[in-house]
Amino acid sequence: MHLARFPRVFLAHLPTPLERMDRLTKELGGPEIWIKRDDCTGMSTGGNKTRKLEFLMAEALAEGADTVITQGATQSNHARQTAAFAAKLGLACHILLEDRTGSNDANYNGNGNVLLDHLHGATTSKRAGGTDMAAEMVTLALRLQGEGRKTFIIPGGGSNPTGALGYVNCALELLAQANDRALVIDHLVTATGSAGTQAGLITGLKALNSGIPLLGIGVRAPREKQEESVFNLALRTAEKLGCPGVVSRADVIANTDYVGAGYGIPRADTLEAIQLFAQMEGILLDPVYSGKGAAGLIDLIRKGHFKKGQRIVFLHTGGAAGLFGYDAVFAEHQKVMTV
Ligand SMILES: *Cc1c(COP(=O)(O)O)cnc(C)c1O
Repeated sequence: MHLARFPRVFLAHLPTPLERMDRLTKELGGPEIWIKRDDCTGMSTGGNKTRKLEFLMAEALAEGADTVITQGATQSNHARQTAAFAAKLGLACHILLEDRTGSNDANYNGNGNVLLDHLHGATTSKRAGGTDMAAEMVTLALRLQGEGRKTFIIPGGGSNPTGALGYVNCALELLAQANDRALVIDHLVTATGSAGTQAGLITGLKALNSGIPLLGIGVRAPREKQEESVFNLALRTAEKLGCPGVVSRADVIANTDYVGAGYGIPRADTLEAIQLFAQMEGILLDPVYSGKGAAGLIDLIRKGHFKKGQRIVFLHTGGAAGLFGYDAVFAEHQKVMTV
């Protein structure tokens, strides 16, 4: 497992801090809760896509691309971070945004990540929810190639074996930090969506024989589907790394009880988790991913799933830029809370 063998652009702010959350730990009265600050990776407010894009964008450059194409939901953090990388590297960036929520809210559709996509000079175009976005990207690539562009397609969420290398790197980094301070990690918890983060982490954790179990809290798909997509990507990532077979199906665990009505639609416990982190720790989560991940973490602690004396690390995957697309949801939630 030697990441230096893979092309990479070094743009992330690494290592990200590993911090203890004392007030939240005390409030919940359970295990010691730590946070790995991958919301601080740099590139347009940071987030988990930065680590993936270091490898993905290096591949685009190696192939001689002058244009990158990617896709995501309207408030996609991946789209925003891809736009920032493209700006930094002098590439054109075209983003296809899928309307997964059907929201007509002006801020949801124009503020937050969408505002930043455009600030970075990317072009965006919308597609209806349920569109085959991978096929749409190919159609767009063919059109741009017809105009003489050299295109490179980055899958949604940057989740393929190349992007997952970024989270193999995170596993290496986290383990080194824990070893340096004699911190025994009993469990690692993270939000899981397009699967690259969880797949890269589990591949790294297993290849290093860390013994640290990983729990993904789902934000979209049902459990079986989520675990299968993480496992399939982990298999391919391990192969790419030269350590095939290090991940077994039983290593891949997702809890999808906190998704609610669907992707991008926060539940009351999502918003409460965001408020708790903001008010106890001064840390900003987001309504689509890290808020749901934290809601799962909090609920599992309250239910006694993690015990006093254990040390739990929550990987903060970022996403706070999306908060500005969700102000109406918070306004509604406050109203409910104050009546
Ligand atoms: C994309 C994203 C995730 C999910 O990561 P995947 O690798 O897609 O599973 C979690 N949190 C935030 C903030 C994200 O933008």
